[in-house]
Amino acid sequence: MTPEVVGGFDTRMGTVVRAFSRRNLIAIGLGGMLAGACLVGFDFWLSGVIHKQGQEEADASVRRAVMLSETRIARVVDELDKLAAVGVGSCVPDHVRAMRQSAFDTTPAKEFSIVSPTGETLCTHLALPLGVRNLLSSEPLAGNDNYIVDIFDIHGGQRMVRLRRQAGEGPNSVAALISSQLLIPQVSTKGKIFSAFAHASTRAGATIGVHGQRPNEDYFVSKMTSEKFGFTTEVAMPRGPVRSQHADLKWFGFSVIGLVGLGIVTLIVLMHTGSSGNPVDELRRALRAGELVPYYQPVVDIRSGQLRGAEVLVRWRKPDGSLVLPGSFIPLAESSGLIREMTRDLMRRACAEAGPALGRRPGLKLSFNFAGQLFGDERIVKDVRNVFSGSPLKMSQVVLEVTERDPIENFTATRRTIAALQGLGVRIAIDDVGTGHSGLSYMLKLGVDIIKIDKMFVDAIGTDRNSTTIVETLVDLAHNMRMDVVAEGVENFEQVMHLRELGIRSAQGYVFAPPLPGSAFLQLVEAIDPMPAAQPVVETAAA
Ligand code: C2E
Ligand code: CA
Ligand code: CA
Repeated sequence: MTPEVVGGFDTRMGTVVRAFSRRNLIAIGLGGMLAGACLVGFDFWLSGVIHKQGQEEADASVRRAVMLSETRIARVVDELDKLAAVGVGSCVPDHVRAMRQSAFDTTPAKEFSIVSPTGETLCTHLALPLGVRNLLSSEPLAGNDNYIVDIFDIHGGQRMVRLRRQAGEGPNSVAALISSQLLIPQVSTKGKIFSAFAHASTRAGATIGVHGQRPNEDYFVSKMTSEKFGFTTEVAMPRGPVRSQHADLKWFGFSVIGLVGLGIVTLIVLMHTGSSGNPVDELRRALRAGELVPYYQPVVDIRSGQLRGAEVLVRWRKPDGSLVLPGSFIPLAESSGLIREMTRDLMRRACAEAGPALGRRPGLKLSFNFAGQLFGDERIVKDVRNVFSGSPLKMSQVVLEVTERDPIENFTATRRTIAALQGLGVRIAIDDVGTGHSGLSYMLKLGVDIIKIDKMFVDAIGTDRNSTTIVETLVDLAHNMRMDVVAEGVENFEQVMHLRELGIRSAQGYVFAPPLPGSAFLQLVEAIDPMPAAQPVVETAAA
């Protein structure tokens, strides 16, 4: 019949240990997720940086190549304009000399020549015999109608660009060759050898020059067309080298985030260890979560067998269904100051649960255990009034027990509080009589209404002459002072007989019932003391 009770500190420690490891796991999980999110975020950020930097480098390379090519072409165009202006247009020695001077002055141009209307080279500035030239394409130069652009391969494959201009009145043109290498990027933006792929083409699409091989892997690409001369340069840079430039930063970032994540987890674990290791916090949480519930131990009239009421005994009902006895947490509630809130909450719960059934049976009493320290605090009077005034349970049905075990700190204040409580109509009992240090006569000066004889004496009655005498004296005293007597911890019928012989009427103990949960207690109340059902009104017709 006794409900499952898990005793004492071991249970609490078990709960604390469980809570500790569960919280740790949660903390570690959260910390891991946080660090993971940071790593993903950092990787994402770094990819962005790599992408931006790689793209900027490709854009800068292409811009630089177009700008250089434009300058070189413009320089050559200038020089050809100059030669045309002075009428250079044939292979006569004066003209060859003028071209030689131009070749000397114009760095980008490899060769100056006189070209026939069909594109054939008639002579060069060196007046040397000409090698085989393979003309690949010809087109007008964008932005300058006087010029034709020819693309050549000479000397077995070396790509050349020839700019040719109508010269003076004659049919011939004056022309200059530029190596295609001067029109595609040769150095990186950082001044090193250009390691990426580059391609330059004329407006019509003829290839001016190629550098390197188009990458197969992921690359950054940038393309730009010269506004002045219409040629297009394209650069493709593999991502790998840019990524590897940031590899150190990446591992540094990962390590920092890993360490910070580890630090956060440790901190959370430490913080949680602190709070879960604090039983006061745990008790406060339980109280607010409604885990502290009233149990009811019936008090019985041992002459008639009638129910006289019940004593409310608190139980900590854990979420896993186990019950913790008050001996494990009442001392903590008292030392932490939670006892007032706990007592108030327990009175409210008991009143809501058992109030309606007991209120209909005014002879039944409900008693509550009050820690000694509460009587030194007058606010408890207000608490009792707030809970019971206007409730189905009358003040006259409420008993408050003060234990003789706790020494009374401030007698005057305690006396005053007891009187104020009695003024509300509730009755006061001294609990555990015979076990305390205060002495009964001292306790009786408090002006109480009931004395509860401790189990220790109940156990001794009939076997120990001294104890029997003490109980006899107590009963006499109580009757003389018009106090009621309740015997506690009655476990067998023999004890019931002895108590009856001593003139004691009320008793509680396992022989009758253990502390019961609310529903079982209310069933017992209905079973022992059924309320008569409302009688239907029968009208009899007058004869
Ligand atoms: P108590 O006020 O003397 O309560 C009687 C204790 O004896 C209860 O233990 C009850 O379960 C137990 N008991 C009842 N009949 C028998 C029996 O026949 N044999 C034996 N061996 N024991 C019996 P419990 O519930 O563990 O409470 C222990 C103490 O905790 C109470 O002693 C009371 O001092 C304190 N307590 C309980 N509830 C409250 C409360 O709400 N507030 C305060 N301040 N103290 C409380
Ligand atoms: Ca008690
Ligand atoms: Ca007691």
